[in-house]
Amino acid sequence: DGHRLRLPNPWDIPAEICAGPDVPLEPAAVDEALSLLETAGTLAALSEATGGPPARITRLALTPDFHKGAGIPIGTVIETEHALLPQAVGNDVNCGMRLEVTSLRAERVRPRLRALERRLRHLFFEGGRRIALTPLQREALLRDGLPGLLLTGGAPWAGLGPHDADDSVDRVHAPAHPAGTADAFADWIGSAGGASHDSVIGGIGGGNHFAELQYVSAVHDAAAAHAWGLVPGTVVVMAHSGSLSLGHQANGTALDLLRAGWPAGLPRPRNGILPFLLDERTEPARRRYLDAFGNAANFAAGNRFFLSLTMRAGLAAEYGELESRLLYDAPHNLFWQDGDRVVHRKGATPAGGHAAMAGGPYAMWGEPVIVPGSMGAASFVLRGHGDPRSLASACHGAGRRVPRGAAARGSDAELDAFLRGFHVVTPLDHRDPMVARRSDVMAAWRRDLKQEAPWAYKDIGPVVASLAAGGVAAPVAELRPLLTVKG
Ligand code: 5GP
Ligand code: MN
Ligand code: MN
Repeated sequence: DGHRLRLPNPWDIPAEICAGPDVPLEPAAVDEALSLLETAGTLAALSEATGGPPARITRLALTPDFHKGAGIPIGTVIETEHALLPQAVGNDVNCGMRLEVTSLRAERVRPRLRALERRLRHLFFEGGRRIALTPLQREALLRDGLPGLLLTGGAPWAGLGPHDADDSVDRVHAPAHPAGTADAFADWIGSAGGASHDSVIGGIGGGNHFAELQYVSAVHDAAAAHAWGLVPGTVVVMAHSGSLSLGHQANGTALDLLRAGWPAGLPRPRNGILPFLLDERTEPARRRYLDAFGNAANFAAGNRFFLSLTMRAGLAAEYGELESRLLYDAPHNLFWQDGDRVVHRKGATPAGGHAAMAGGPYAMWGEPVIVPGSMGAASFVLRGHGDPRSLASACHGAGRRVPRGAAARGSDAELDAFLRGFHVVTPLDHRDPMVARRSDVMAAWRRDLKQEAPWAYKDIGPVVASLAAGGVAAPVAELRPLLTVKG
């Protein structure tokens, strides 16, 4: 249909890229996707060698923004039977996007963005974010996720800013992965005692992660936008972050266990991708991985919650009265197991249709799909259609266009021109004359920021058009950035 490309393969696995003619495809990423399909051979060999259940890949879907990852492309959705592929989740377990709709209007916010910059720098980077947690609360979050944390009652972080019962969890796609606490994270929980200020949780995480103030600049689906509070001019907060170092640790644990348990005599797969068979014999090892994975996933949902509370604190302090309602929190690095069937998403976001959302707040319109563009460019909210060929998944961004290294070597003048018209908050205060005089410090800061410049990312227009034309999701509203906090 012009918006789908089939990837022929020797295993006859249905494998498709959803991408319109205007989306540039990266040949190296296509090769990487083909090499992922070789895991079909690994699964067959592993099932045979161990007498385990017949594991196979049942479908592969690549999103319009898919690009080369380290072994598996970012933008990969892979469905398996009787097999779990930790590497198909990505290292930053439960990295995701959270979107809140505030009671503020763009015209009220704009004139005081400079002052807001200072407040947010203090809150995010200069110790102003005083999130007090007890060891019990930290443990509740790791074991039982966001609901667990909220159930602990007292909210010693309340001083951070307005927060109310609407911080409920029915608007969070993956609020909890019940898990035992993995030993690896005992340090973070801390010893018995009262609440103490946490310097870990609520961090943005650097690079492509952000907390951004945006406003609704256009509406494409009036009814859905109205239902979701996305009225033109409304200020919204988008947060993108993951599990900081916890996800990397969980995936490291998985690979150690998989290497140790690999059957003697069976060659290691060429593509480096090691699966767990869903077999009771792999259960003890999987349990250890699932605990670490669950802890990381739970931490990430909590982290995004605190990022938005921190943003609320800054907004309330600068603009006074503030209400902020969660529209949706969606993960893009996770797996979903349903019996023997596992759907893995690495850099892809769920885009369920209204049927799949029955009984919840999105039964009417379908699942909100949050697609950020870049700082300085538009982002989108769409509604999912639950398209089976895409495994009910959409892209989670515009995708990188210029590799990090090349972007870092780009023009300083271009960056400076962009920054004159935009508000970025980073740990370094580039507007401070004392800082601006330090050319070495400024050069390093510019190198980092150039990797995140709007021109380092693809144009979001064709990416969103591919989702619409491919029947994956329909645009509801377009958002434009006012200010970006980058860790
Ligand atoms: P990830 O890092 O999870 O693979 O991708 C995140 C996506 O977020 C990128 O593909 C890019 O389109 C988008 N993005 C990166 N930085 C920013 C930012 O500062 N603001 C916005 N709105 N989007 C961003
Ligand atoms: Mn991430
Ligand atoms: Mn991410």
